[in-house]
Amino acid sequence: MREKVLAAVKVGPSTTELRELDLPSVPDDAALMKVEVAGVCGTDVNQYRLPLRNGPLVMGHENVGYLARVGKTFAAQKGLCEGDLVFLEHYLPCGHCEWDHMGEYRHCAATEWFYDDNAIRYGYTSMSIAPGLWGGFSHYVYLPLNAVLHKVPRGLSPEEAGVATPMSNGIQWALIDGGIGYASTVLIQGPGQQGLCCLMASKHAGADLVIVTGTSKDARRLEVASAYRADHTIDVQREDALARILEVTGGRGVDVVIDCTVGAGTAPTLLGIEALKRRGGTMVVQGEGNQEFPNFPIGRLTRKGITLKSARGHSYRAVELALHQLASHRFPLELMMTHTFALAEVDYAIKSVGGEGAPGAIHVSVLPWR
Ligand SMILES: [Zn+2]
Ligand SMILES: [Zn+2]
Repeated sequence: MREKVLAAVKVGPSTTELRELDLPSVPDDAALMKVEVAGVCGTDVNQYRLPLRNGPLVMGHENVGYLARVGKTFAAQKGLCEGDLVFLEHYLPCGHCEWDHMGEYRHCAATEWFYDDNAIRYGYTSMSIAPGLWGGFSHYVYLPLNAVLHKVPRGLSPEEAGVATPMSNGIQWALIDGGIGYASTVLIQGPGQQGLCCLMASKHAGADLVIVTGTSKDARRLEVASAYRADHTIDVQREDALARILEVTGGRGVDVVIDCTVGAGTAPTLLGIEALKRRGGTMVVQGEGNQEFPNFPIGRLTRKGITLKSARGHSYRAVELALHQLASHRFPLELMMTHTFALAEVDYAIKSVGGEGAPGAIHVSVLPWR
């Protein structure tokens, strides 16, 4: 009889079932990862509500675990062996395009699962593509040769390494795309896990002044931002955010704005444009929530010489820096790691991130073996 794997399978919109699946055999050019931690994020909240596109699937795209079985070719190619603790990127790149050679797997056409039903991306791929173990809400995930892995540095627990995805985005958006470094002044909009990771990256890199905004329901998150050394926090529902930003920057405005308020409408973008310095500021926007933007002030953007960039995923380099940042233990990560759930609680874990389950969620993880 074949060994079995327990997995939380999405069988319909907002519906999960625990199922026993066959443990696949591992050819020479593949491996199997025993999942220790699978992070849950806002993307899961949106995806979970959608109808299935191509049959049931195992979600979970922010995965950390131990290599349990490693084929010979896989081991030689990757420089990894059984027992190694690794962070698995959710992109499965083609491996030969220009983007992949630059470590920019997020731009590889082979990772465009949304447009291509045959594209594999961890956490979004149908079980109909063999061997079906393409998500972290499971005891094991399957790793073909093009899986992108990072060795977790010593001194970092699997749960802490589970913060690597939002931290990679934080490093990508704040440091690499936003160019934040020594003496920068920064406005971060939205104090969720993404905003908090941008904050930690900015402070670690030497930013002089970081302002974090949120709404009244974000009171606890703004407290965490203060603990992560935000210089100022602003509840945009209770005070005039622009007036306060100009006040604390001596009327100058900030060098960089990072908008992590997906789904909050157009107001944060408009505030960001006004909060930027007179000329030459940079705005990094996570714009997926805004399908439409009537009267977008393109003229104002041009007059201020603003560079607008899209916050979308992370590069290989950003993940390496994120693991390094997390291993530094400079910030009390436990303030942000608010909830962990077992495999049977995946539905509730996703709903908690969406604000409909356990209260106070910032970073939420599923621990499949609990
Ligand atoms: Zn995510
Ligand atoms: Zn490629």
